[in-house]
Amino acid sequence: MTTEGAQTPLDPAPVDGAHVESIGEPAAAQPTTHAFQADVARLLHLMVHSVYSERDIFLRELISNAADACEKLRYEAVSDPSLVQDGQPFGISIALDKDAKTLSVSDNGIGMSEADLVDALGTIASSGTRAFLDRMMAAGDAEKPQASSDLIGQFGIGFYSAFMVADQVEVDTRRAGADAAHRWTSDGKGSYAIAPLDLDRAPVRGTRVVLHLNAESESYLKPYAVERIVREHSGAVAVPINILEKPGEEPRSLSEGTALWTKPKSEITPEQYKEFYQSLGQFDDPALTVHYRAEGRTEYTVLAFVPGSRPFDLFDPQRKGKAKLYVRRVLISSDAEILPNWLRFMRLVVDSADLPLNVSRELIQESAIFAAIKKGVTNRIVQELAKFAENDRQAYETVWENFGGVLKEGLYEDPERRDTIYKLARFASSTHPDGKRTLAEYVAGLKTNQTAIYYALGEDLKRLQASPQLEGFKARGIEVLLLPDPIDAFWVGSAAGFDGKPFKSISQGAADIKDIALEDGKETPSTEATPAQASLYALMKQTLGEAVEDVRASERLSESPACLVATDRGLDLRLERMLAEHGQLGGKASKPVLEVNPSHPLITALQGHVEASDRSAFDDIVWVLLEEARLMEGEKPADAIGFSTRLTRILTRVAAASPAPAGPQA
Ligand code: ADP
Ligand code: MG
Repeated sequence: MTTEGAQTPLDPAPVDGAHVESIGEPAAAQPTTHAFQADVARLLHLMVHSVYSERDIFLRELISNAADACEKLRYEAVSDPSLVQDGQPFGISIALDKDAKTLSVSDNGIGMSEADLVDALGTIASSGTRAFLDRMMAAGDAEKPQASSDLIGQFGIGFYSAFMVADQVEVDTRRAGADAAHRWTSDGKGSYAIAPLDLDRAPVRGTRVVLHLNAESESYLKPYAVERIVREHSGAVAVPINILEKPGEEPRSLSEGTALWTKPKSEITPEQYKEFYQSLGQFDDPALTVHYRAEGRTEYTVLAFVPGSRPFDLFDPQRKGKAKLYVRRVLISSDAEILPNWLRFMRLVVDSADLPLNVSRELIQESAIFAAIKKGVTNRIVQELAKFAENDRQAYETVWENFGGVLKEGLYEDPERRDTIYKLARFASSTHPDGKRTLAEYVAGLKTNQTAIYYALGEDLKRLQASPQLEGFKARGIEVLLLPDPIDAFWVGSAAGFDGKPFKSISQGAADIKDIALEDGKETPSTEATPAQASLYALMKQTLGEAVEDVRASERLSESPACLVATDRGLDLRLERMLAEHGQLGGKASKPVLEVNPSHPLITALQGHVEASDRSAFDDIVWVLLEEARLMEGEKPADAIGFSTRLTRILTRVAAASPAPAGPQA
């Protein structure tokens, strides 16, 4: 076929003036039939049978694929202009045919070869689709998945969503520059067929997806329905979209496809920003929008968003961000490493005219200019977050709630920016458990003689609040930061301090809090051991042997009889345990110190046992005390059988010593 003349760029193959002319006609050669990869078949089943409520999104998915295809070709054409020598401007066209009951979405993007078709449409490609499927399966019975309509919006399930509205889907496609075209067909039930397609029926380049709408979906043949969906879901796509309401009719423009970030801020409405944000694959509202043009040595435009909610893959081990890098509106990468990992929740587009286009993607991202852009964008985003935290405290708190766990990685990984990230950080503390405390507020509330910022590491807040090590701090009204995230152990262990105050674990080393007054006005009890106490501690240490480093009196206990703390030299106990769990503890675990509460009745009573000749009760009690302290740390007893035997022995004694209950005797 020829491509000259007044033909509109996106006009589908011009056979007899029909726009979706090839439907149902026999293809040139014998099709080859393929079975879908198992996952695809299950996904199709799920979607078709249970996920009907948000059917509109099929169009968004097809348009987004069409736009991706155009952006891919725009990029490939930089090094091989012959790919676009037909001169068609990029575009997406939606054609409706009431009589044939078809809706088709065409693009003149990169297109697909036969192998591409098998790879792309016969296999689950996108991570979103994969995650969607996993979540659905996890949600329970695969036949009756729940909550699917919110999931759909969240995941972007891609091409297969077409089968929500169509009984039969045809994909006619021709890879740009190739002299072969193919038709992929499927009813979405388990297999698909691929057959060669005559070139005169195929798009000049790109793809046409034809949906034979099912009976419930005929409303999508109405132009206003399509127009509404495009406006809602795809208005910000950076490729023009037009509609052909009837076969033979002139196309009408639905969307200009201008790249939003290139427009001046003053001309953009919040609604448009939101549309654009959602065109990046988000389903919520942005919590913060940052749009600026950097001028000076390197010039570039940034449009960035803090999402309004937490994405499903935030803690994906790959920790990949979703930053789009453009060079003069050519998409170079959809996952450019512009921001550090600890800002991976941001969604953004960066466009620069200063980067070289005619080198590989990899080389672009290794250039010095790119490094300068990365640094500039990161600094600005952090600044904007800090500004946001100051100007709208409440809205910012939600951002922290969603992404604080990731931002805190920056405290560890980016020591240079640590001071700025401190300003962003919000904490739960023993006196302010709601998780909104800033370090500045903590420091402003220091007690007389308090010189350190105290913290407790652990796995969950409730448990941290109940730590025996906290007792002495609570009794003095000293605020203790409660740090339940795994990452906390890392940054707090390497941080020098904040505002000149060192961070100090409440479960490591000496507590050093006796100079801080008790709230009830009482004197701090002396931890100086009397001779009797000294021999008690010595005997306890002798009993426990290598299980503990030392036994000593504690300043930090007021109710519990004992607790474990780390020595000054070693790692914090909880950090050590975490490292051990991840197999990252080189060498042996260090021994803890058992601290006892000299004024606890159990400890005073034990002193009486020191002289006793029968030490079995003493030994049992001391070992059980140690295991109990381990339990309070969230550990398992080191010797479960020994623990249980000793406990039973103790209980038996207690039971035997108590008056026997009235009632029939066995
Ligand atoms: P995703 O877009 O997240 O990769 P989809 O299920 O939407 O997942 O699409 C699967 C793949 O099919 C795409 O990655 C792409 O390779 C291919 N594809 C789909 N539609 C088109 C199209 N219009 N042009 C070219 N390739 C396409
Ligand atoms: Mg897609």
